[in-house]
Amino acid sequence: MTVVTRFAPSPTGFLHIGGARTALFNYLYARKHGGRFMLRIEDTDRTRSTEEAKRAIFNGLRWLGLEWDGEPVYQSTRADRHVDIAQALLSKGKAYRCYCSPEELAVMRQAARKRGSGRLYDGKWRDRDPSEAPRGVAPVIRFKAPLKGQTVVEDIVQGAVTVQNDQLDDMVLLRADGSPTYMLSVVVDDHDMAITHVVRGDDHLTNAIRQKQLYLAMGWELPAFAHIPLILGPDGAKMSKRHGALGIDAYRDRGFPPEAVCNYLARLGWSHGDDEIFSIEQASGWFEIGDIGKSPSRFDLVKLTSLSAHYLKEMDDTRLIEKVMPLIADRLGRALTGKQRDRLAAGLPGLKGRAKTLLELSEIALLYCRERPLEPDDNAIKLLDSEAKAKLALAREALAAVERWSENAAEAALRTAANDAGEKLGKIAQPLRVALTGGTVSPGIFEVLGVFGKTESISRIDDVLQ
Ligand code: GLU
Repeated sequence: MTVVTRFAPSPTGFLHIGGARTALFNYLYARKHGGRFMLRIEDTDRTRSTEEAKRAIFNGLRWLGLEWDGEPVYQSTRADRHVDIAQALLSKGKAYRCYCSPEELAVMRQAARKRGSGRLYDGKWRDRDPSEAPRGVAPVIRFKAPLKGQTVVEDIVQGAVTVQNDQLDDMVLLRADGSPTYMLSVVVDDHDMAITHVVRGDDHLTNAIRQKQLYLAMGWELPAFAHIPLILGPDGAKMSKRHGALGIDAYRDRGFPPEAVCNYLARLGWSHGDDEIFSIEQASGWFEIGDIGKSPSRFDLVKLTSLSAHYLKEMDDTRLIEKVMPLIADRLGRALTGKQRDRLAAGLPGLKGRAKTLLELSEIALLYCRERPLEPDDNAIKLLDSEAKAKLALAREALAAVERWSENAAEAALRTAANDAGEKLGKIAQPLRVALTGGTVSPGIFEVLGVFGKTESISRIDDVLQ
């Protein structure tokens, strides 16, 4: 059997953390078994589905590296097929037309609630002769759900879930306007797409019971079900914006590398021994649905951030530059020149251990992309008194005499000069930092000298001295 999984988002909002994790688990399981990972856009609710939300889903999945197989399936394009299946159920006697008015239904619901029954529809049209149908009323089509016994879904994560059939309504399959309901569409699509494993949020667990009844009524083979627990906020409450329940794009914009987000999401409710840091490829080799935990996991931004710092440190320098460059260009308001790019290439390796996100890194690395003459910040200006300038002049002299420039050569020249003048190196380093970077905080001063090179370094010092 080829494993076929799917991610079936409704494009009504952003691709949030929970959705992304569902997609990831489906992706991992399909990859683990050499199967297919499908994407189905459940866009039947025309009023709530937006192009923007679709784009957010595509972009978010691609950014995470969760490439789906084949073309996405748009549920809205399959309405005819859903209607056909409703008709097929009618002909099999497994569905019927119901002509109840909204008022009648409201009365039934009230009565059912009084009785404490879960069956809100009393089955009025279930066994009635079609000749009794009122004229001019467009019926809905309801499923003739079993009245007796129980329905059991053997869920891989939740175990056996049992519902007494007398608690379930004859659900609507086709509305009076002929449009199919979610419950029908999902089953028909999962069947037609040959989905073998339905892995999704446990908010769909009760739906699985009803869906199973539909599979049985059609005589279709059931997929395996796995309903994964919700993601909670760090305080154990339902995840909200306050907890970081943001769109995946917000994490991208905040500069979290996708591999960090994927790694984090994979660990949110699933584990492979004590492994904390692993790639999506490794997880694809390990992933088993049975290893998904049964209790809800808590979102922890601190953990995500520390993974982000880890992946930044490990990131290949060329890739890192590609990621940081646009962020710096954004800050500068223009594209980088060749010279700025070179400096960035020279400076980034020394900086990448200092930042937790790409955004932070781009902020620190900006120092290599600012052009002289610099505008020193307030602290820097305060520091540049006449005494400091005298130290700077000393540094200039020592640096100008360096013949073969390097970080180490610049350091040696400065140390000697400080020593000869009976000065503490720090006293020289601070004004030098201000001259080179325009600020009082920067990476090691020798590192900065190494990146700027001799001519640029001397010119920056001269800008301050003149
Ligand atoms: N479209 C549904 C949702 O976004 C998911 C349906 C399913 O996975 O079966 O919640």
